Amino acid sequence: MRNGEAGLRHWFENQGTLARQVSTRLNLSPGNAPVTNAACRFARASAWAAGSEDRAAHFLVLCVLVEVRSDAGVRFLKNVAPGHCGVRATGSDMSTIDDVSGVLRSLAPHHLAEDWDNVGLLVGDRERPVKRIMTCLTVTPESVQEAIDQQVELIVAHHPIPFRPLKRLTTEETTGRLLLLLIDAGIAVYSPHTAFDSARDGINQRLAEGVGLLRIQPLEPIENDPDGLGAGRWGELAESLALVDVAARLKEFLKIEGLHMVGAPAQPIQRVAVACGSAGQFLGAAQQHQCDLLITGETSFHTCLAAAADQIAMLLPGHYASERFAVESLAESLGRHFPELVVWASQEEADPLQWI
Ligand SMILES: [Zn+2]
Repeated sequence: MRNGEAGLRHWFENQGTLARQVSTRLNLSPGNAPVTNAACRFARASAWAAGSEDRAAHFLVLCVLVEVRSDAGVRFLKNVAPGHCGVRATGSDMSTIDDVSGVLRSLAPHHLAEDWDNVGLLVGDRERPVKRIMTCLTVTPESVQEAIDQQVELIVAHHPIPFRPLKRLTTEETTGRLLLLLIDAGIAVYSPHTAFDSARDGINQRLAEGVGLLRIQPLEPIENDPDGLGAGRWGELAESLALVDVAARLKEFLKIEGLHMVGAPAQPIQRVAVACGSAGQFLGAAQQHQCDLLITGETSFHTCLAAAADQIAMLLPGHYASERFAVESLAESLGRHFPELVVWASQEEADPLQWI
């Protein structure tokens, strides 16, 4: 057997027959503890019988087959094949932070992120196993406490932390305090941010579909993107609606009670641009596409004045509402990819702005 992971993979590929025989003989099914124990005993006996080199390999095959996660299994592997423990000893079939990162990268490819952004795994060890994942919009004292209380191994936070380069990491300011709490608790942080905003099924696509747009296209296409993706979206309503009716539709989709509106309630709207978060800078792009309305989470007073002067309407449901719905659906997507993991969207984070 060749050394290292490549060698083990090669060995596995040539052990299909043995694996099938063992599987049939033991009637193995994942997650069945008595069967797993039986498999461990069988592995031990067959491994010792097979000679030194194959001991670890036999056991690893069984780990793959029965999803051995027991301490006994890992101890056995460490005794028999200490040299291979780094490969899969933490759980032959257990999902790692790297596995989850891979799925997140496929849902929100990094090439879609803005140049200034900081996306991907920002805190943590990608080799660590993961059982519990919490998504949230932002890492806050509340979401960090929830993650610690709920013993998660990974937070998928839409907004990056850290975002800017750090020169020191101390408890004297909020970012350092939160990061140190997470690091102490062994919690990793992955942030998809603008890659998720722009992804095929990302926030802006969902927002555009949520208000009923058709023929949806990127507001600012990425040059030569093979999938024709880019930042923001624009599209057309099936029929012209009054601004106030589009607002009602948006409120219903985002499950919110109120929003800010720039424009006359009866203003006819057909072509609509959307850009989640704080994206008033897309006003020019929305105008270039001759949109009647730009929907974004929040923007400045002066951008609202500029929109009003150019008679383009704006709906501003708030930064939180314009993105939070998507971290809830991201938790559902991850749950579907990793049915053995517990995944949820933070229950404790809230919009810091109150609509009263
Ligand atoms: Zn945001």
